[in-house]
Amino acid sequence: MRHFVFLAITSIAAATTVCAQPPGAQNSGDIRIEAGQECPAGTTEIRPRICRAPQTPAPSILDYRPRSTLVTAEHLVPKAKFPAIDYHGHPQDLIFSAEGLAQLKTALDALNVRMMISADDLSGAQLLKALDAIKASPMKDRVRVLAGIDFSNVGPGWAEKAVKQLDADIAAGAVGVGELPKFLGLRYKKPDGSRLRIDDRDLDPVWDEAAKLGIPVFIHTADPEQFFEPIDLSNERWLELSLFPGRRYPQDQFPSFDELIKERDNLFKRHPKTTFVTAHMGWQANDLGKLGKLLDENPNVYTEVGAVLYDIGRQPRAAHDFFVKYQDRIMFGKDSFQPEEYPYYWRVFETRDEYFDYYRHYHAFWKLYGIDLPDNVLKKVYYQNALNITKRIPRAGWQ
Ligand SMILES: [Zn+2]
Repeated sequence: MRHFVFLAITSIAAATTVCAQPPGAQNSGDIRIEAGQECPAGTTEIRPRICRAPQTPAPSILDYRPRSTLVTAEHLVPKAKFPAIDYHGHPQDLIFSAEGLAQLKTALDALNVRMMISADDLSGAQLLKALDAIKASPMKDRVRVLAGIDFSNVGPGWAEKAVKQLDADIAAGAVGVGELPKFLGLRYKKPDGSRLRIDDRDLDPVWDEAAKLGIPVFIHTADPEQFFEPIDLSNERWLELSLFPGRRYPQDQFPSFDELIKERDNLFKRHPKTTFVTAHMGWQANDLGKLGKLLDENPNVYTEVGAVLYDIGRQPRAAHDFFVKYQDRIMFGKDSFQPEEYPYYWRVFETRDEYFDYYRHYHAFWKLYGIDLPDNVLKKVYYQNALNITKRIPRAGWQ
């Protein structure tokens, strides 16, 4: 015991000595800052209000790849614990041919994804072609398709045509609408050159028709908030915005993130009888309070988790509580079809694992944690909620 006390005292004394000395006594390059100031670029705070530059050239953020020395339990989850519906599928060409569907089957079987919902905006002849290939394949009960809406020339006469096409697509076998692309709000224009707003009144008859048909509308609005912010060294997505400059939405050319979210929420509020599914957790997984408020205020709104696992997995306790509280409103979806990425979702949802990597470093330079959902919540997120709101999915075989 005495030995430990002695050690503790010496280390406190050592720390005090360093802090008490003027920075110049430590290293002539040290820089003193005022409380609340940030260290200048190229330096870091080594003691309170003392900044220092590294003595060797700093690597770029691309090359700094520290290997974690943390040794802790690992539970890889190659297959979902319960059969899943991927509500945000982009199988693209795979559902147009027997070979493609066979390839899809092999991949989904290995993951325990029992059904994929194609959210590739198919309509008319393309939709029929996909539906024919699906019907003729062993995947006939395992793939369903959402119908797309053509947003060109929105104005007088547009809605009648769009409603007619939607009716035809649903009669042919589509089970809902989507994925309404982010271009709605960001890029689509009306014939007079003005921006087509998400809550444009000319679109209303289509959402009313969806309510009448009893089908859900799957909608992607905006993009991560950081894409709308300046690309500077405080932007969490600096690397992504630099790798993919087309993802930037400069404020002089695009509406703001908040403006788009407001238009989306207007749309949801104005059509309480229409079921909407906001993709990517509405890009609000980094602010679960806001997303919770949206769900509280709009019982017709559901959400889906595609491509935001990095935000769920960095707040395991808040995310766990959110998923438990809104267990009837959240659905699994993956977005881009990369079979090797699904197991990261299973691991976050099903385990208590700690401090593991996300699958794309440019999305998340931080680590993920499992949120350890109970079985009844997992079942709802994996398939029950999707079945509940999507009446045209075949019922047989689900528990
Ligand atoms: Zn998508």
